[in-house]
Amino acid sequence: MAKKSNRPSWDEYFLKVAMLVSERATCPRMHVGCVLVKDKQILATGYNGSIPGDGHCEDDGCVIVDNHCVRTNHAEINAITQCARHGIITDGAKAYVTNMPCTTCSKALIATGIKEIVVFSDYHSTLATDFFKKANVPIRKLPMPAGNIQYDIDSYSSAKKINFDEENK
Ligand SMILES: [Zn+2]
Ligand SMILES: [Zn+2]
Repeated sequence: MAKKSNRPSWDEYFLKVAMLVSERATCPRMHVGCVLVKDKQILATGYNGSIPGDGHCEDDGCVIVDNHCVRTNHAEINAITQCARHGIITDGAKAYVTNMPCTTCSKALIATGIKEIVVFSDYHSTLATDFFKKANVPIRKLPMPAGNIQYDIDSYSSAKKINFDEENK
């Protein structure tokens, strides 16, 4: 009999995607992932990373101003700019973010029409809570989903493993 799958809820799924996206972050001080979602579909993703063409914090060091690294665009901004580049409407979408947005990102999310924020971690200093409250944007705080990805290839009877030694001959 087939093993019952451990299927994530929609919230767990999008938060887990945000965690995966955060693996691409380039600033060692913070790894954040953001997923913009509408009607249970992903519009765009973003992680904190340098502007296109610039060096990464990891390689060239952080650029510190007032004790914050300002080299990167934050995950939320990068998700929003991805929508801007591709002409994707963000109005009415939800933002799943690994961490509570910073003050600047909260303002950008509000202005871009985001209607709900879902996070599993707070951020050290931010006015986001005040801004979201003023804008009537609810924040939902959920437990952090399990960090592992379940892909049990050995148990899937229809999966046929690739023999890379043969393929690369
Ligand atoms: Zn940095
Ligand atoms: Zn931010």
